[in-house]
Amino acid sequence: MEKNGIVIGLECHIQLNTDSKLFCGCRTQAEEPNSSCCPICLGHPGSKPVLNAKALNYALQVALALNCEVNKEFFFSRKTYFYPDMSKDFQITQYEIPVGVKGHVALSNGKRIGITRVHLEEDPAALVHEAGLGASNFSLVDYNRSGIPLVEVVTEPDLSSPQEARDFLDQLTTILSYLKVYSPSSGTLKADCNVSVYGNARVEVKNVTGKRGVEKALEFEVARQKNLLLNEREVVRETRSFDEKSMTTKATRGKETEEDYGYIFEPDLTAIRLSTAEIKKMKQRLPELHAAKSKRFMQEFNLDEYTANVLARNFTLGLLFEEIAKQVEPMIAAKFLTRELMAVVNRSGLDLNALDLSADEIASLLSLLLDRRVTEKAAKEAIIAYLTKGEKPTQFIERQGLAMDLQERDIEKAVEKVLAENKKAVADLKTGNKKSLNFLVGQVMHLTKAKAEPRLVQKIIAEKIKG
Ligand SMILES: [Zn+2]
Repeated sequence: MEKNGIVIGLECHIQLNTDSKLFCGCRTQAEEPNSSCCPICLGHPGSKPVLNAKALNYALQVALALNCEVNKEFFFSRKTYFYPDMSKDFQITQYEIPVGVKGHVALSNGKRIGITRVHLEEDPAALVHEAGLGASNFSLVDYNRSGIPLVEVVTEPDLSSPQEARDFLDQLTTILSYLKVYSPSSGTLKADCNVSVYGNARVEVKNVTGKRGVEKALEFEVARQKNLLLNEREVVRETRSFDEKSMTTKATRGKETEEDYGYIFEPDLTAIRLSTAEIKKMKQRLPELHAAKSKRFMQEFNLDEYTANVLARNFTLGLLFEEIAKQVEPMIAAKFLTRELMAVVNRSGLDLNALDLSADEIASLLSLLLDRRVTEKAAKEAIIAYLTKGEKPTQFIERQGLAMDLQERDIEKAVEKVLAENKKAVADLKTGNKKSLNFLVGQVMHLTKAKAEPRLVQKIIAEKIKG
């Protein structure tokens, strides 16, 4: 590691999308505060936790997909924890033996990031610091969150920039979406970020929300630490918090070590035992993940690496592409999806997974475009209407009268007329003046009331000029 190198490790807490909580039957989705809790997730005396089998299965899939060794026997522990967001004064988590260890994930540039461990734990309640309640000296507690299943993924300190940390989280959430264990739209993602300048004290920025938050918190922290060292001051080992409004971090409390939490074995839950055969079977059942899908797209459809990656990155987009590629030239489908469709998704801040898009509809639109029955401009408008308003492209084209009813010979007639009336532009074009081509195309478009396909007009003009 170079002298001023940045060393980053992440502890990511991601909500698993189960219907019920980790140790009780309470629903994970609830509107009214404190409407989804019971004696178990509140920790009433005498209540006993029961492990959610689906959550366990999800955590196992995550460990396997992150190339971890899955432990054949693991158990849960109580982490002593005195704070209003954990009413039973301990959190059920895993400490000594987690679900999986020693995994790895590749960043988009191929760099391998080590995964130290993957474990399952319950989320604490949410503290609500409500402004405008007339008092600033109290907080509210919403126990709906208490007991929601989280998978914790801890990396080795292998990340060397805030951008790499962001890339890692992108890779991780893509894998989790592929496994269908995480919903980006409703599930939370929080991370504790450990960051240091090589050879100096490590700072932990606790509980940062979201991928962008992590990137921004790290950017600030790296700049702050570098600045301290530049001024020959010391970086203090401490825990800091991130303020999303000011995009800065500030010192919170002294750093506890893991021992301070006084972990004890959770006596109300039995250990989980798995056979080698069971683990092997689970591994075989994992779906094709995005790295493999991207490679396959390159081979099967002859796509370039960038396009294949964009398509495979988003599970829904990848599915859509494969369906459309059965009906339309794959290269054309890939280009249209990664450029036109994703431009609308990104610009409008849409969640592609939440849209109910039909591959047949998009394929029909692309066929119209390929048959030159609609212009590229019309196709773009149709896809915007489809994504933002849900109007089917074929309906949109029909309603707007965008289908070109002109036959090629009608366009040819129009071209002949325009060429005959614009001798000077034709002469200029013959000397290679591009502007006059645009002018002539414009004239034809005008004459045909924009119902001709510009590329076809260009082609016919070129043929006529040559001939
Ligand atoms: Zn409950």
